[in-house]
Amino acid sequence: MAKNSRIIDVKCPGCKNKIFKYKKVGKGNLLRCWKNKIITDNSIREGDKIKCTCGKTIGIDKGKYIKMERIQEIK
Ligand SMILES: [Zn+2]
Repeated sequence: MAKNSRIIDVKCPGCKNKIFKYKKVGKGNLLRCWKNKIITDNSIREGDKIKCTCGKTIGIDKGKYIKMERIQEIK
């Protein structure tokens, strides 16, 4: 694992359920989730939309990555 990476939980902005466990590299907020860095995936797919089980859209599938609907702030 790269030394500046860590595992974060990506949560639904609606119900706070954990959507992804994600290997975040570097600093800054999470604008996109690279699929090869998603460790566990609890999302639901509806076409190219990535949704939480509560129905809230989390992001859009762009092929190699998921463009986050709402930028996740990383503390
Ligand atoms: Zn939710």
